[in-house]
Amino acid sequence: MMDYGKIMCRRVQDIQPSGIRKYFDLLQGMEGGISLGIGEPDFQTPWHIRDAGIFSLEKGFTKYTPNAGLSDLRGAISRYLKRRFDLEYAAVGQILVTVGGSEGLDLTFRTLLEPGDEVIIPTPSFVCYGPLVSMAHAVPVLVETKEEHEFRLTPEELRRAITPRTKALVLPFPCNPTGGVMGRADLEALADVLRGTDIMVISDEIYAELTYGGRHVSMANLPDMYERTVVVNGFSKAYSMTGWRLGYVCGPKPIISAMTKLHQYGIMSAPTTSQYAAIEALDHGDGDIEAMREEYDGRRRFLVEGFRRLGLSCFEPLGAFYTFPCIKSTGLTSEQFCDRFLAAEKVAVIPGSAFGPGGEGYVRATYAASMHDLGEALERRWLEGQTGRVLPVLFEEEKGGLWQGHAPSYALVRAQGENLHNRLLDVKITGVEGNVLVGVAVDG
Ligand code: PMP
Repeated sequence: MMDYGKIMCRRVQDIQPSGIRKYFDLLQGMEGGISLGIGEPDFQTPWHIRDAGIFSLEKGFTKYTPNAGLSDLRGAISRYLKRRFDLEYAAVGQILVTVGGSEGLDLTFRTLLEPGDEVIIPTPSFVCYGPLVSMAHAVPVLVETKEEHEFRLTPEELRRAITPRTKALVLPFPCNPTGGVMGRADLEALADVLRGTDIMVISDEIYAELTYGGRHVSMANLPDMYERTVVVNGFSKAYSMTGWRLGYVCGPKPIISAMTKLHQYGIMSAPTTSQYAAIEALDHGDGDIEAMREEYDGRRRFLVEGFRRLGLSCFEPLGAFYTFPCIKSTGLTSEQFCDRFLAAEKVAVIPGSAFGPGGEGYVRATYAASMHDLGEALERRWLEGQTGRVLPVLFEEEKGGLWQGHAPSYALVRAQGENLHNRLLDVKITGVEGNVLVGVAVDG
C-alpha cells in the first residue's frame, strides 16, 4: 500500500481547500437555486472581444506566443494603463502576460520571497494570498481590517505588523470580499510607513475598473512607490473574461525579467486566442467597462439597501462587486448562516470567515447576478426570520410551550426569554386558533 500522506509535500497537504467551493458544490444540482456566491461577472464577454478571439483562430494563430506575451498586447496594456490609471510601464521589459491575475500573484510571491520572509496580508481578503505565500516557503502575516475603518488598512495596523523579516505587503484593493477601497490619502499614509524600508508592495488591482466613488488610485502612482510596487491586473473582472484566463503583471524590470523565467518554464505563454481577444478589449472596450460598471452600481445600491431594510447592517462597498453585510445580530456564525440560508431557501452566499480573520460575523453576497436573482434572494422568507424584522412581532407570546402569533406559514422566531438567550428557534406550526397561528418551538 502506498502511503500518499508520506509521499506528498507537507506544505501542500497543510493547505486548506477554499471555503468558497463548498457552496458551489452544494448549489449544483439544486433546482431553482440562486447563487450570490461566485465572484464572477454574470455578463457574457462583449461580442467584439469574442469576435477578435474567433477571428484569430480563423487566421490560424494557434501557436505559442513570445513568453512575455504578444508584443502588440503588451503595447496595448501599456497604453491602457497610461490612459486609465496614469501608470507608465514599458511594453518591453516591464509587462508580463500571465494566465489570469492568479498566475501573476503566484509568480510575484515566488520571485520575491525567501524562506522565512514575512508577507503582510490585510484580511478579510481573497483566499489565494496566504496559501501561495506558504507555498513560496514564506510566512503570511494576517492583519485584520475593521468595518469601523471601512475595511481599509490603517498606517498604525501596518506599522504594528512590520518586523525585520517583512519582505512584502499585499494591497488587495478594491477588496474581495469587503468592497473596501483605498483612496490616494489612505495610500499616502501607508507610503509614509513604507518609505525608507525595503518592503515591496504587491498591489492586486484586478477590480481597479470597478469603483463607484472615484477613480482607482494605484500605490505605483505615488512618489517613491513606483519602484517598490508590483501591479497585478487582468481581464476577468473588467471585461467579463474569467474563462479566457488572462492577466498581467507590471513592475521594475529586474523583477519582471526574473518572473518571466518562471513563467517560461512553468507556462511557456498565456493562451494565444485570449491574447488576441485582449488586444481588442483594451483598444476598444472602454465603453463595455462603463456599461457594466453602471449596471453593477445600480445592483449594488439595491442589494445594500435590501439588506439594510431587512435589519442587517451593511457597510457601503465602493469597489469590486460584493456586499459584506454583518450578520452578528442573528446570533449565528457566518457558516451557520450560509448553511441554513442555502438549505432553507437555496440561496448561496459565502461565510466571511472563509476570507480570513475579521470575516466572522459577515457574509459575502455578490451583485454580479441579475436584478431578478437579487430581488428573489432578498425576498426569501428565511432571511426575514433571521433578521428578526418580522417574526418577533408576529410571534408575541409563549404559552405552555406553544408560541402564538400572527405569522405566515413559515416560522423562525428570535426567542428573547431569559432562558433562551436570544437564540433562534424554529417554530413548527401546529394549528390555527381563530386568526392566531399556534406553533411549537423547536430548538434550532
Ligand atoms: N484577485 C482577486 C482579488 C480576485 O477576486 C480574483 C478572482 N476572484 C483574482 C485575483 C484572480 O483572478 P483571475 O485569475 O481570474 O485573473
